[in-house]
Amino acid sequence: MRIGVLALQGDFDAHRKRLEELGSTVMLIKKPEQLNNIEGLVIPGGESSTFLKLLGEEGLAKLKEFVQLKPTLGTCAGAILLAKEVENPKQMGLGAIDMAIRRNAFGRQIDSSIRQGLFQGSPIEMVFIRAPQIARLGPTVEVLATEGDDPVFVRQGKAMAATFHPELTRDFRIHQEFLKLLSNGN
Ligand code: GLN
Repeated sequence: MRIGVLALQGDFDAHRKRLEELGSTVMLIKKPEQLNNIEGLVIPGGESSTFLKLLGEEGLAKLKEFVQLKPTLGTCAGAILLAKEVENPKQMGLGAIDMAIRRNAFGRQIDSSIRQGLFQGSPIEMVFIRAPQIARLGPTVEVLATEGDDPVFVRQGKAMAATFHPELTRDFRIHQEFLKLLSNGN
């Protein structure tokens, strides 16, 4: 099964390494038509507004279609792209997950931080970098991990979104969860 990592900008290479360490075949996606050749996709962190610019109208349309059909994991900026509503400032979202997400929600003072959250009841280290915060969640969205009172890793159907950077710690569980979704043929 071939997994794509959107490689327009941001820290896509850390995701590639992680997925390869877990035994996946990875394809770096630089052109929209390459989406035809993969079974699942990771949208990495970076700058969500830059992703929108680089994708352009055609790329966005293709990506929107992809995320409805195939498993996708968005982390940080990738999570922002997957949301239905984006705030601070408003920008378009692909609507794969029924949530509102607030960009740069922790202000400049907490530009980045490492915090401990809970994934399926067990502690997990989370790296937040100019992180967004989930401001609203639709009733059918499943919360997979939390940090304090905040949902930070969620899933709706084939789409998963984490507001932190699981590719930057040595904990493989978030990517494993995504690979489970892929192998379930969901
Ligand atoms: N602040 C970025 C945005 O709003 C996300 C940061 C990240 O991906 N680490 O898109």
